[in-house]
Amino acid sequence: MYYDAHCHYNLLGKPYPNYVIASVSMDYSSSIQNLNIKSKNILVGVGIHPWNISKGEAIDDKIISLIKKADFIGEIGLDYRIETPKEVQIKYFTKFLELANEYNKMVNIHSVDSYEDVIKLLAKYEIKKAIIHWYSGPTDLLKDIEGAGYFITINPSVTFQKKHKLVAEKAPLDIILTESDGGYVYKGKLLEPTMIKDTIHYLSLIRGISEDEISKIIERNFHKIY
Ligand SMILES: [Zn+2]
Repeated sequence: MYYDAHCHYNLLGKPYPNYVIASVSMDYSSSIQNLNIKSKNILVGVGIHPWNISKGEAIDDKIISLIKKADFIGEIGLDYRIETPKEVQIKYFTKFLELANEYNKMVNIHSVDSYEDVIKLLAKYEIKKAIIHWYSGPTDLLKDIEGAGYFITINPSVTFQKKHKLVAEKAPLDIILTESDGGYVYKGKLLEPTMIKDTIHYLSLIRGISEDEISKIIERNFHKIY
């Protein structure tokens, strides 16, 4: 079994046997799509991605009713490279954190140039379970993430993305998960769950542990958070 802790499975539309997939949503309509394909091996997150705030997506009763049916909340977060003002993004993010507490859900987070704020807000709202996906932030924050009991995901881009590679080299093994961010096109290439095999191979090389051992660690971590 392979474990994909952050994937846009609704955009891929084909089965991946031998994969357990956590499918995140970008907005209300993808949340509906994902809930319709929820199954034993497809866990579903409901959320509004920071990129979609400017499109008028609202945290209203409609999306809250979907959160109740979801396995977790996501994709939510803060992205300080986009035009939507920080204050607006923080308002959305913290509202979702309140909902996570109210409905006892884990959060699956997008963070770009906002790592300190994300970690600060998770602590402030006393969030127990969180994944910071494709974490490419400062490696000195990894100890805070570990201390809070949170997880990060390693994306297939780890083989060539310098900042992410540094994270994969330094992160404590008990906070690491694998992901594909499947459905998302990165540098002209469609990401897919099947790429996780290569990520495990790569992790085994840079950490000096067998692929089997890495897989066992990932599996254990996945069951801790999901
Ligand atoms: Zn994503």
